[in-house]
Amino acid sequence: MREEAVHNGKNCVPTVDILGIPIHQLTRKELLQLLKERLQQRLTTWLVTVNAELVVRAGDDPKVASALQKADLLVADGAGVVWAARTLGGVELERLPGVEIAEELVKWAAEAGLKVYFLGAEPGVAEAAAMELRYRYPGLLTAGCRHGYFTQAEEQYILEEIKGAGPDILLVALGAPRQELWLAEHQGELLVPVAVGVGGSFDVWAGRVKRAPRWMGNAGLEWLFRLIIQPRRARRMLALPRFVQQVLRRKYAGRRTGK
Ligand code: UDP
Repeated sequence: MREEAVHNGKNCVPTVDILGIPIHQLTRKELLQLLKERLQQRLTTWLVTVNAELVVRAGDDPKVASALQKADLLVADGAGVVWAARTLGGVELERLPGVEIAEELVKWAAEAGLKVYFLGAEPGVAEAAAMELRYRYPGLLTAGCRHGYFTQAEEQYILEEIKGAGPDILLVALGAPRQELWLAEHQGELLVPVAVGVGGSFDVWAGRVKRAPRWMGNAGLEWLFRLIIQPRRARRMLALPRFVQQVLRRKYAGRRTGK
């Protein structure tokens, strides 16, 4: 894989700045097309699907912000980022939820004979997710599965295992921002053609967690559904009003300075 050309490739795509995070303006179709082209050109791609919570985390934690700087492509995962792009940049983005993008990648992999490695979630969940996806997409090749509760001491072994398995696509389900910090640290060494952090997607595919009904997702209420089914997320959700506040503050500060 040619690493040096990665950044030239991504720079062809226009971005909209959301509180310091450049979000690429791509539709679902364009994103998949770009990933396919980059794979053909032997460029590695680390893709991040960004939600409001991750933007706030990046603002609070410079380690997260600098990890995101290393990503090749960043797209809008949730309704919050779509709203912020409209509010700050007058740009209409398509919502590209991580779980749906990851499933598109798996579908592509099954069609193209690409191998997928599943890293993350509780023991047994990655295997169950892979099994469900093999059922949905017959012919899907699994490069390996490993749970996400490993120690620092086990990490080197896992890295070697992934390198040895040679996946074309690496799905990392360690939750945000841990998966972003992990990929920022290791993607340069792994050089997997396509790597993406997929949050709780394995739990969804394995049937352990339900996704919000489509109407809630379209209405920007996926967060409310997740709060109802996983009340332990309440603390994390405090990031959402902060996100709204920060976006509005940026917008009106921009107006005052004429930007
Ligand atoms: N997880 C993991 N290792 C950890 C912490 C979390 O593998 O040390 C997994 C967890 O089991 C779950 C996923 O990461 O499958 C996080 O899911 P969540 O819905 O919280 O994702 P997020 O909203 O953070 O994207």
